Amino acid sequence: MYRKFKKFGLVAVTSIMFGGCIKHIDLYLKNDCRMACKKKNKKEGLLRKIINPFLEIFDDYEKRTLYLKSDSTLEELVNGKNYRDKVRIKFYGTFGGFIGPLREYFLKDLVEMAIIYKDDVLLLDAGSIDVVCDREVFNEIDAILISHTHFDHIWHLYGVYKNLRKEGKEVKIYSPQKVPFWNLAKNVSTNIPKKIKSFEIEYIETKHDIKCYAYKIKVNGKVIGYTGDTAYFEELADFFKDADVIITEASLLEKPRHIDEKMGIFNRHMSPQSVIKLAKKANPKLIVLTHFNNLSPKKFKKAVEKEFERVIYATNGLELIID
Ligand SMILES: [Zn+2]
Ligand SMILES: [Zn+2]
Repeated sequence: MYRKFKKFGLVAVTSIMFGGCIKHIDLYLKNDCRMACKKKNKKEGLLRKIINPFLEIFDDYEKRTLYLKSDSTLEELVNGKNYRDKVRIKFYGTFGGFIGPLREYFLKDLVEMAIIYKDDVLLLDAGSIDVVCDREVFNEIDAILISHTHFDHIWHLYGVYKNLRKEGKEVKIYSPQKVPFWNLAKNVSTNIPKKIKSFEIEYIETKHDIKCYAYKIKVNGKVIGYTGDTAYFEELADFFKDADVIITEASLLEKPRHIDEKMGIFNRHMSPQSVIKLAKKANPKLIVLTHFNNLSPKKFKKAVEKEFERVIYATNGLELIID
């Protein structure tokens, strides 16, 4: 009897709590979350514990537009206006490869961003499908640049591509290696062009498990760097020297258990200390953190901020305007 009661009590309480979670997740993940939540309801307690701090973090930043002016303070950036004729960066996914129960929640929100200038759009990585809903940007995509073919960077490449084709657009995909979708093969090139529309493109090979490129995009006098996945190395900072914005992966807030520092993940990804080194040496106007493998982008930002103030973290839907 006691057992039964205990079981009932647990179910009732957790489902009320979980009901609250569902509402919040809807705001952020838009589709599929109800189904995913129902499927996972046996692990409610665990999910609630993990999701709630996550939501608190993202409530602060969701749907913000930041405006980067050469001599702006961070307050000015946050309060700035949306100027459509400026160079813009929009983020559609900000997570890296996930471990554990959250994976299926966030697969649609893996790393992806667009650089936009007037009618020209360059999509960087394709981890998320959300760009398809942003018609203003989606309809103008000229090319897709992939940093490397780990799943978190190409998870929605086929979906994005298929939707573009529905609109009658056959865009070219550029990547350091062939992508694992046979039906895209003819559209993929491993020769990265120097120029696509208004964008001048340079790249450097990073320190990662497979061939991966960091990109430097020059457009309308602005310089935007994107690290792809990498450990810190000096040439990367030289490559990005004095960029307006460096978008850096921020995978390693803490040393994960079971990781060997010499051989393991620290040789392939960025920690707050690596980002600080990169920021200090490259001296960009702004560092944007993305590609999180934990639920604490805010903590990552705080850790970097102690030594390099001009840092923000990206969230899904964030739009950054560079003036
Ligand atoms: Zn990755
Ligand atoms: Zn990777």
